[in-house]
Amino acid sequence: MNDTAAAFHTAFGYPPEGVWTAPGRINLIGEHTDYNDGYVLPIALSQALTAAAARRTDGRVRFRSLQSPEGFDGRLADLAPGSTPAWVAYPAGALWAAAEAGTRVDGLDLLVDSTIPAGAGLSSSAALVCATLLAATGLHGSATPLEKVARLAQRAENTFVGMPCGIMDQAASLLSVEGHALFLDTRTLVAEPVPFAPREHGLALLVIDTRAPHRLVESAYADRRRSCEEAARALGVAALRDVTESGLGSALAALPEGAVRHRVRHVVTENARVLAAADLLRAGDVRSVGPLLTASHASLRDDYEVSVPEVDAAVDAALAAGALGARITGGGFGGCVIALVEADGRETCSAAVRTAYRERGFTAPAVFEAAPAAGAHRVHPA
Ligand code: ADP
Ligand code: MG
Repeated sequence: MNDTAAAFHTAFGYPPEGVWTAPGRINLIGEHTDYNDGYVLPIALSQALTAAAARRTDGRVRFRSLQSPEGFDGRLADLAPGSTPAWVAYPAGALWAAAEAGTRVDGLDLLVDSTIPAGAGLSSSAALVCATLLAATGLHGSATPLEKVARLAQRAENTFVGMPCGIMDQAASLLSVEGHALFLDTRTLVAEPVPFAPREHGLALLVIDTRAPHRLVESAYADRRRSCEEAARALGVAALRDVTESGLGSALAALPEGAVRHRVRHVVTENARVLAAADLLRAGDVRSVGPLLTASHASLRDDYEVSVPEVDAAVDAALAAGALGARITGGGFGGCVIALVEADGRETCSAAVRTAYRERGFTAPAVFEAAPAAGAHRVHPA
């Protein structure tokens, strides 16, 4: 029995029927493009959330987390947006979204354990929702295509939790392939794993958790999303994905001067950078992705305005220490930075970032190397 199964047994007094795991993710490139129907290129991490579960036949649900003292006991039929406390909204939202969509789910006992730091921009929330959905649909015999699970998971976060996120996090957690990045068209959910094994090229991808306090994340995220939707309407397109780089000049001229032009320029150029990065990875040229990362950061900092001093300090220090490229990853206003570095320059880069933080009085960052991992799957019984 694995550790999560043992913890389930202790919590509920009987063994689980199965254990599922869903990874966290970082996004190599393609930021704030998913809610514009655009392209993203995330990587699943070896940090993951594990869920042990068993069916119940009385319509009741019980949720436990080894990361939270607060549990939940209730009835599936009573789950509704706003009805549950804090973290419980994620697994509750997962079951609610499945039931709403007519996918057969019933009562469930669920216990989760996780190595993904929560709230760091590594998508612990999507891992929690995705693992819950796989457990519930797997146990209740309503096995569901992963693309549909991703849409249910997004609906759980959008409608039940109230976070207007796009679909990247859920798709990355579900569809990723070990040793690959996931090139995803968020309009169609057509996903192509492209080889991404930095170590084979003498490189390493560092993840720097800035541990900066999240500021205004949800309101600013919703504000950016609204600007993009308004711009798409003004331009007469379904989404900003439909504005190409060659059409950018005339699109900008058709919009009022000011912030909206900058937002549109970010989305359009970022989509082009994702396409270029995917081409480079297909050709096995990991090294040349570096400058695209740095260009993405400049666009997010200057045009999309989602960076903060801690994030810029990590990017600048990594580049000064010889990184091939570095950028903010995730929604912004804190969270993580990624840096593509020579494998033998990892320590130099980490030390440079730590020194920069100490000099500015920022909380010490956490640094780890990303190892592109597999997407969510059942681990027990295998
Ligand atoms: P991120 O997805 O980047 O980690 P979010 O703010 O979207 O950040 O999601 C974090 C939230 O997800 C936590 O505040 C908590 O409610 C929930 N969560 C994540 N992991 C766990 C866990 N292991 N146990 C309980 N709740 C969790
Ligand atoms: Mg999240």
